[in-house]
Order: sequence, then C-alpha cells, then structure tokens
Amino acid sequence: MIKKLLFVIIAALCGIPVFAQELQSPEQFLGYKLGDKFTPHYRVVEYFKYVAQTAKNTHLQQFGTTNEGRPLLAMFIASDDNIKRLEEIRHNNLRIAGIESGAVIPNSPVITWLSYNVHGNEPASSEAAMWTLFDLTDPLNAKSKEWLKNSVVVIDPCLNPDGRDRYVNFYNSVRGVTPDASPSSREHTEPWPGGRVNHYYFDLNRDWAWQAQKETQASVGLFNQWLPEVHVDFHEQGYNNPYYFAPAAEPYHKDITQWQRDFQVVIGKNNAKYFDQNGWMYFTKQEFDLLYPSYGDTYPLYNGSIGMTYEQGGISAGLAVVTRSGDTLTLVQRIAHHHTTGLSTVEVVSANAQKVVDEFKKFYDNSRQNPPGQYKTYVIKNDNNEKVNELAKMLTRNGIQFGYGLANKSVTGYNYFTGATEQYNVEPNDLVVNAYQPKSVLLHVLLEPKTFIPDSATYDITAWALPYAYGLKAYGVKESYKAANTNSSVVKPAALSNTKGYAYVSAWQSIADVRFLSALLKRNIKVRYSELPFEAKGKKFTAGSLLVTRAGNEKIDFDRVVTQLAADMGHEITPLSSGFVDKGSDIGSFDVKFIKQPHVALFTGDGINSEAMGEVWHFFEQQIGYPINLIRYQDINRIKLADYDVLIMPDGRYNDLTSDNLQKWVSDGGKLIAMENAVASLVDKKGFDIKKKESKKDDKPDLKAKQSIKLYVDRNRDAIRSSIPGAIFKLNMDNTHPLGFGFPNYYYSLKLSDDIYELLGDDDWNVGTIENNGYVAGFAGVKSKQKVNNGMLLGVQSLGHGSVVYLVDDPLFRSFWENGKLLFSNAVFMVGQ
Ligand SMILES: [Zn+2]
Repeated sequence: MIKKLLFVIIAALCGIPVFAQELQSPEQFLGYKLGDKFTPHYRVVEYFKYVAQTAKNTHLQQFGTTNEGRPLLAMFIASDDNIKRLEEIRHNNLRIAGIESGAVIPNSPVITWLSYNVHGNEPASSEAAMWTLFDLTDPLNAKSKEWLKNSVVVIDPCLNPDGRDRYVNFYNSVRGVTPDASPSSREHTEPWPGGRVNHYYFDLNRDWAWQAQKETQASVGLFNQWLPEVHVDFHEQGYNNPYYFAPAAEPYHKDITQWQRDFQVVIGKNNAKYFDQNGWMYFTKQEFDLLYPSYGDTYPLYNGSIGMTYEQGGISAGLAVVTRSGDTLTLVQRIAHHHTTGLSTVEVVSANAQKVVDEFKKFYDNSRQNPPGQYKTYVIKNDNNEKVNELAKMLTRNGIQFGYGLANKSVTGYNYFTGATEQYNVEPNDLVVNAYQPKSVLLHVLLEPKTFIPDSATYDITAWALPYAYGLKAYGVKESYKAANTNSSVVKPAALSNTKGYAYVSAWQSIADVRFLSALLKRNIKVRYSELPFEAKGKKFTAGSLLVTRAGNEKIDFDRVVTQLAADMGHEITPLSSGFVDKGSDIGSFDVKFIKQPHVALFTGDGINSEAMGEVWHFFEQQIGYPINLIRYQDINRIKLADYDVLIMPDGRYNDLTSDNLQKWVSDGGKLIAMENAVASLVDKKGFDIKKKESKKDDKPDLKAKQSIKLYVDRNRDAIRSSIPGAIFKLNMDNTHPLGFGFPNYYYSLKLSDDIYELLGDDDWNVGTIENNGYVAGFAGVKSKQKVNNGMLLGVQSLGHGSVVYLVDDPLFRSFWENGKLLFSNAVFMVGQ
C-alpha cells in the first residue's frame, strides 16, 4: 500500500497519468467518457477482454460468431471462490432443474443474466454493459462484492454485433463536429435496412424459440446450458417514451406462474426506487406483454426464469435529440438509466437469492410432476421422415425430450387437423413427446392447439402451434404415455452402390428434397418432375416427385455422381431401371416436365420490408444453398430483367410501381413471385388479374350499436376488431397444381393481415382458397374473421409466355413456418415449367 502511494505521488509529480484503481474504467480504457461517442463493437470486445485479463473474478467465453465474423461473448462474474467452480455451479443448476441427474449442492448461487443490444440500433445497451461490467468487477466496489457472494452474473454485451456496427458506422459517418439534436436532421434517420436486425435482416428478438439464425442458435444454446434464474433483455424504444421496466403488460401467458409475476414486481419496485431518487420518468405494466414465445423475456419465463425486457427511450436519438416535450435526451442519460436498472436487478436478486433459487426449483419440480395443459402426450405422425426430422431438430435445440413409437399401439387423441377426438395407431417412427419432463411449460406453449388469448391487444402474433407450422399430423393425448424408443428406427438411407439407373426418383415433400434439387441444379445436372402421381418399383410417388434421368445427363458419370450426392446429403433416392412405370405416366411422357435451372433475382432497397426480403435471402443462401441475385427495386428501369427467369417481390411499399416493363418481362416468359403487399401493388396494373376483396359494404350500423356512442378511452379496443396480429387459417389446396405439389388438399397459413383477394378468372389458377370459415387459431378481430372468407390466398396467373405467382401471406415468416418453405419452393422451381 505504501509502495503504491509512493508511486502515485512520484507519478503525479512527473505528470504520468495516475490510476488510483487497479482496474481501468471504460472511460480510462477507451479514452473518452461513455456517451461522448458510440463505441464500435471491436472496442467493446477489447474492453471485455481487458477486464477478463485483469479482474480475477471473471471468465470470458466466446460462444459463437456472427454472420459477418464478429465474436459473440459472455462474461461470467462471480466471487473469487465461485469463479473457480463455474462448471460445478452450472451442472448444479441443471440438477436443480432436473435436467441433469445427481445430488444438488445446497446454497447454490443465483444466476442473473444480462443481455444487451439484441437490436443493433438500440445502442445505449452495449455502452451500459461496459459500465455495469466495471462496477461488478471493480475491486474497490464493496457493494458488488457483497452481491457476488450469492450471485453469478453473466453479461452478454451484444447479442447482435453486426446490427450494432451497422448503426454505429452509419451514425459516425454522418455526424457533425457537434451532434445535431434536431429530430429532423439526417443523423436521426437511418438508411435502409437499419441496424435493428442481423446480417440477414432477422429480428433476433423474435427468434429465441425457433433459433433460425446463427446468433440465436449460439446464444440460446448457451442459455440452455445454464438456465439462469433471472434474465434481462436490454432494449431501446422510441425516444419520446420514458423508461420501461417490469412488471410487464397483460396479456401474460397462462403458464407464467404467480411467483414469476410477483417477483417481476419486486424487481420493478427496486428499479423504481432509484428512478424516483433521480426524478427519472418510467412506466410499467403497459405496452410490453408476455405471450409470443420467442422473445428475450417470454422464452426465459417459459424456462423457469424471471424474464424481463427493459426499454430505454432512444431509437434514432443519436448522441442527443430534442424530444416532444422539448427536453434534450442524451446518450449519457440513456446509458445511466440502463446502468442503474442492471445493477438494481443484480442487487435485488442477490437480496432474495435463496428464495429465487427455491422458486426456480419449484417451477421445474412442477414441470416434471404436474405439467400444464390437458394433453400429457403429443404424438406426431411420421408421414415424412425428413419433415419429422426438422421438428426433432427444433425440439432438441430447445432441450425438449422426445422419443419414438409406443408399446401400446392404439391410442385416442385430439386430431389437430380435424379437431375431432379419434382412435388411431401409433407407428414405430411416430414422434412421441411426453409432457412429464423439465421443459413441459415450453413444450405446452409451443404445442397447445390454441393459445389462450384474453381479449386484449398484443404486441405480436398469437398463434404458432407447431403441428400447423410444420404441416405434421399430430394428436394431443390426455393420458401419459412414454415413448418406446429414444431413437427413430428410420436409419439414414444406405448409399446406393453399383446401380445402373434409367432414372433416380426423389420425393418432393420437404425442405430436404428442395436442398437435393438445389444441389443437383448447381452441378448442372438436369432434373425433371412428374406432374402426376405414379407408381414404380412397388412405390407410390406423388405429383412433383423429382426425376433425374440418364437421358440428358450422359456427359457426367451419371450413376456415381447422383448416388454419391444423395449419400453425402443422407437423402433417399430410388433407382428405376426402366422408364416403363407400373401405374401413371412413363418417365418419357409429356407429363414429366423439365426443370429449367432458374436465375433468381430478389428486390431489395428502400420501400421493401427488409425482414421479409431477408427471409428470402436467408432461405436461398443458408437453407437450400441456391444462388440468388439481390437487385435494388429503384433500379428496375435500369437493369436487364431478361437476365433473370424468376423475380421475387417481397413484402413492401411499391409506390409508383410502373409495371409496364414487369408485364413485358413476364409476357416474354419470366416468372414473377409477388408476396404480401407486393400483391396489392399489382392490383389494377395492366396485365395483372389480381383484384382485392373488400369487406362488405353492408355494414349498416345497427340501432343498438348506434345507441352506444363509442368512448375515446376504448379506441385501442375498437381498432383490434379489424386486426389479425397473426392467426392460423386453413386453406383448401389444389395439390394437382405445381404450386400445391407435396401437400395434402389443405394448407395451414399464418395470416398477418386480413388481406384476401377475389378468385382469379377462368384462365388462371386458384391454388389456395378459403371457402367458408377457415379460421383455426390465434386472435382475429370480429370484422377480420368475417372478411377472410370466400377468396384466394395462393394463385397463379398466366401472362403471355410467363406467369405470376401470388402469395398473399408470408410462407417464410421468421423462418419458423416450416411448411411454407415447400410452398415457396414450388413457386420458385415448379410453377410455370
Ligand atoms: Zn428492441
């Protein structure tokens, strides 16, 4: 100590900067005060690495990388003793949950997890993360030392580094010497696509349960290895709003326990204490509800944690902005608020540590012994092994246990697709999920046929039951049955060797088949499809089945290349030694069509819904591995459309669409795929047959309604009468049309709006329609339910030599509506051949 003091005095005399502390604060490390400028992600990483090297009660883990190669980090902070036994604490916590077996060590520390900056353009988060980290690791901080006696704190400084840097680089590139606080200055208007989303324009705070994205797979993967008792997701909202913290708004999902509700209030009151002391404005219990399972608050809640969202006002606020009330909101203030709630949360959780751990244990005991919901077993029929595998992968990512088959084969259960209770046989490869397991709450939330939704406005979609999303026949069974096996008895198809095929057949029913087609086309292997079902070699093949014939592929080492590719992909193909089939049209028939290898282009840029566009982009690049050209919609009159065979118009606002060149391109043989609002933009355009179906004009206000004059306070409730925040509807499907290939004669669509169109004319094809009452699940306002009837949602129009595909709903929504992927692939590869 004397030595140190001496050094300080000498250093001060010599003009050397003096650090009284052993650990540098962010300001000392970065060389500027937090809030003076935005810190690029690599500097945040450097600070975390520095602290990990300097503070001995920390452990830094890189658990993944982003699409653009940035590191994903989690910093573990604990007492000096606990940091040495982190792995033991982790296993112990999983034992408390009953996920791992073994004796539980008593007095286990509580785990508080703080996640920052999932939305890249809500950047105060990562700045606050550095300050919070400093306070928790600073050896001179007595308070945090106390908290860490019974707490492990985990800080993920940035869940979305690619998005954060997109925002920070934008802001730094346009700001002046002094920040311009005027809201209309350009530094407060981000260019398309904005920094909220990740590289593929996915909203990572809608992806927790689906884990479609690389970042979420890594972060939720780590989350499930730990299962923290408390999780906070730090955000920013519109800058005119005061701070929001827990307790959340209604609706709460019914499976959220009273304890989870109550402790949110305890945490909220502790936050409020500090906000009151400072005179800072805040609100609770409004706006942010707890229903949709893929958020950073609900997902932890369904996993036994206290999951919460904290929202600072600040999107697009830059370093300073004048708010509606005439005050100037600065980044410095925004950081201070997030810093305060972060520490306040750690404090109050530490003060209640034992109770929080006990309740966490209770949640899991209950989950295993008394699972929620009326169904105690779910059976997923294995009509297609590859489709069931996709679901199995998703369940596995979420730690949900399942098996295959039942010892007693005949079972009675609720059929999701007919709504009837039926007796049926369980086959050995049917997927069986027993509800008596640690993750039974999450299981119930994801599989219950209808989510209970109180009559209330919500922030997001209200229906997601997996059997509809995956298009898999499923039964809910009230009795508890254990699966007979933990492994499917379907073995990966053995590689074919020494075959000499006239042709090879692949099914066309799942994304695995689309991947196989993509791989064939990329190798310039010619592929055909059968427009009609046929039977050969004792097998039945549905319409759309892929045929790779020797004819046309003589230049390659045909048998070896095709069988090897199938083997590499674990994909089942059937060799045919003759073109003469048992039933149906022969392989050489006119009913077997050649699939032209399409050059696909996708509109991007201003006006396009970046998330909808990103879903298409991600689908091609990351899911089926097929090349796609991204072109700016603004360049439509400049580019040579003739270079492309397929042009995809994702959802967006196509203002002043001059459709003449589009129409000409289609007439010359192009295929236009219009999705969601892009469909609306083609209404009344020359050559396009699409007509919007308006709600009936006979809405004469009846006398009763007239008498009750509407109240201003009810305005939100009135608005939801004509809204569909995301509900499931059943369509009749013409599966003889290429757009319907691989489907039964129905399809479950996730509707995000009440858009529906008039049936197309005699020369066109109405492939997906709703005749009467297609509503299945989710919230749909009274008016909207009436409107979505007797109309077209999937259609194909011929135009000259080309065709237009109308997809009124989004089949690739957040990449979790698994069954939509085949529908979309039909539009791209099958229609118009
Ligand atoms: Zn956010």
